[in-house]
Amino acid sequence: MIDNKREEFYFLTERLQEIDAALEGNCNDIDCDKYIYKYCLKKIHKPVLRHGFSCTLSLKREKEAIMRIVSLTRYKKCRYLKCTVCGKKVDSLGKECSVVSFTRPCGDKGYVEYKGIYAHKKCKRKVAVPDGWKRW
Ligand SMILES: [Zn+2]
Ligand SMILES: [Zn+2]
Repeated sequence: MIDNKREEFYFLTERLQEIDAALEGNCNDIDCDKYIYKYCLKKIHKPVLRHGFSCTLSLKREKEAIMRIVSLTRYKKCRYLKCTVCGKKVDSLGKECSVVSFTRPCGDKGYVEYKGIYAHKKCKRKVAVPDGWKRW
């Protein structure tokens, strides 16, 4: 059975990341002067809107709306994870959460496999390296 909640949550957090990137100046509004792929479109479209002036407000509103949705009980299990180090709850969207990344070689074509482990920022240093993995 497909886990709908998890998929929805994944979709919402992806959008959140996009919004955060846009707020930091990599806008995904095609008409914005901070549009990420501006260089591709320069010749065809002339970006017209000014970032901040026109985009920031609506991005902030959308972020607020998504934050309200991901705060629903429905997504509790997806959002709150157990810290690998102290075993306490950690809000995966909160500032106290950090992802410690590991990689290991995969196959013989030089591919690497990636693994992220969730922990509190304060516990981060104590995350044990899993067998066969390297800190990224
Ligand atoms: Zn913009
Ligand atoms: Zn912890």
